[in-house]
Amino acid sequence: MTHSLDTEMLLDAELLRYARQILLEGWDVDAQLRLKSARVVMIGAGGLGCPASETLVRAGLGQVHLIDDDVIEMSNLQRQTLFLPTDIGKPKASTAAQMLQRINPLIKARGTVARLSEENAYELLDMASGKPDLLLDCTDNFATRDIINRISVRYQIPLLTASAIAMQGQLALFEPQLNSGCYHCVFGAPNTDTELDERTCANSGVLASTTAIMGSLQANAALQYLGLTKNPLTGKLLLWDGSLMQQRLMGYKQDTGCPICSV
Ligand SMILES: [Zn+2]
Repeated sequence: MTHSLDTEMLLDAELLRYARQILLEGWDVDAQLRLKSARVVMIGAGGLGCPASETLVRAGLGQVHLIDDDVIEMSNLQRQTLFLPTDIGKPKASTAAQMLQRINPLIKARGTVARLSEENAYELLDMASGKPDLLLDCTDNFATRDIINRISVRYQIPLLTASAIAMQGQLALFEPQLNSGCYHCVFGAPNTDTELDERTCANSGVLASTTAIMGSLQANAALQYLGLTKNPLTGKLLLWDGSLMQQRLMGYKQDTGCPICSV
């Protein structure tokens, strides 16, 4: 496998592979180089993580690190696009990373079978070798999202969070360094008293296209942010409704009393 770690230039193989992208108006060699030099950590290699990582890796993201402690089950194959029936029982993170590496040998894909926590974040995110450029939240429960948000604020790493349930999805890109609000400002604390917050794909179901669409929207926002250094969702939460085919944007502001980001 040939990984070109030179982020000053593109190899002939890269110019050829990304030709249709470099040709784009508003996307050039510099954007492609920024994408090549980026390191993204994705938490969750399931319904959202599969399409989001596949698109980013095909587009030329330099380094992707998937973290997930789950194993592949038969019921995942309906939407988790990097897995085959022969993968059942294998860990999601390493299986997905291997597939991504096969899809694009010019990039570097890594999988870690683990559950991210505030305690192991420094080590798992490889903070000793510098901050990742972006965290992608591709998980399916509120409690983990809250932990990822705390890590994003603590280490000042931008967080692109997506969710998908049934036929609905949400997307937001928080930049802690701008003090423009965090996940907690918008959604509050995880509520452990009611079952309301525990709506997951496992208990509520999810249409195959919902995760594919939300994962693709997440990849789209990541490409804008990493390649063009712009956040198309500053102060905005994107809401998708697949049954009505409607997308809308809802504004939000930092909660000045937020215990996570306003301290
Ligand atoms: Zn906040």
